[in-house]
Amino acid sequence: MFEHGPTGALRIDGVDLDAIAAECSTPLYVYSARAIRERIAELSAALRGLDALVCFAVKANPSRAVLALMAEAGLGADIVSAGELQRALRAGIPPQRIVFSGVGKTTDEIGMALHAGIWKFNVESADELAALQRAARSRGCVAHAAVRINPDVDAGTHEKISTGRSENKFGVAIGEARRWFAAAGALDHVRLDGLHVHIGSQVLAPGPLQLAFERVAAFWRELAGAGHAIDSIDLGGGLGVCYRPGHDRPLDAMAYAAIVRSALTDFGGRLVLEPGRWLVAGAGALLTRVIRIKEGESRQFLVVDAAMNDLLRPSLYGAWHEILAVDGSPRERVEYDVVGPVCESSDTFALARPLPRCVAGDLLAIADAGAYGSSMASTYNSRPLAAEVMVDDGRHAVVRLRQDFEGMVAGERLPAWEAVA
Ligand code: PLP
Repeated sequence: MFEHGPTGALRIDGVDLDAIAAECSTPLYVYSARAIRERIAELSAALRGLDALVCFAVKANPSRAVLALMAEAGLGADIVSAGELQRALRAGIPPQRIVFSGVGKTTDEIGMALHAGIWKFNVESADELAALQRAARSRGCVAHAAVRINPDVDAGTHEKISTGRSENKFGVAIGEARRWFAAAGALDHVRLDGLHVHIGSQVLAPGPLQLAFERVAAFWRELAGAGHAIDSIDLGGGLGVCYRPGHDRPLDAMAYAAIVRSALTDFGGRLVLEPGRWLVAGAGALLTRVIRIKEGESRQFLVVDAAMNDLLRPSLYGAWHEILAVDGSPRERVEYDVVGPVCESSDTFALARPLPRCVAGDLLAIADAGAYGSSMASTYNSRPLAAEVMVDDGRHAVVRLRQDFEGMVAGERLPAWEAVA
């Protein structure tokens, strides 16, 4: 995504990162619209010939500007909350292209999704199925539901983002799903007409995906044989990306599509894919400035103005992100621990990372921060949410204002007894 300008300094799509940072201050997320469009085009090309609906997993990056690109390209949305539903609809994603996942849909959220007329509920428990039946009955409508299967497959990814093993909270075992379908006739307001599976995120190896898809495909064949009409199979998201060059070897879109094709070659209905990370991770960078260099006993700390509240992945998952000096000038390389200002030792972006020797004020770009970056941000340590900028063909626009102090504390109140005192 990055290019080098005439002085060697980093750019995205013709826009100098230094100039954007000077204008908008740091920490700052920058997204490339072109990089997102390219990913969408690559995936669409790989899926050509299949009846496939790509539903962007909104949780990866719910920015209105990002969702608008998805809507413009005809993608749907995979949502997990009423907030994501509203974001998707507001961005122009039609309800007929929205699927609703998650183990904890509340009655209110189910009601809102029914009201909006979303396409499918990915149902994850018997209790949720009953809640969906009640909500649809009270509205006099029929909800379409896919049963999320837990295929008991280890995705081989970080345990905190692994969702397809039997001990994970997600989905139901095939045995339970079989019983649901056998009793489906009693559901007069829910049509069980889909299957769903999602084994985890940042999946790099083909084997687990292949196995999970084959298990779902085998179950679909069994259901079809028993006379159940399944019109969609949702294969979830999870396709991994390369955060660490030379280390992460993700599948490309073609290889992924080949797995889909081989597992579901005889399925005549609609396939749904829910990629999040793969579409947007590489399209985003977090810009941050060096506050100071602190000489430790045995290491040098590069203290930057971004922190774990802005980009949680390194502290939460030990995730590796490439860090680049924006000023491309040749400099001696030094090993730094790159840390933020938050009062936790886990507020560390990199350990012993070789970087060009830095001075206070230098601008760095933390790469591949477009997914699960701003979407997982918080105001921990009372640090306002970072601004977000989108770059498109030489232009740039602020797509989220930096939160100010008043914005951060808006909504807070003293208890009434304090206010009157
Ligand atoms: N679908 C479901 C049900 C998910 O839980 C997730 C994320 O964990 C995704 C899709 C998106 O995953 P990813 O961003 O890895 O593609």
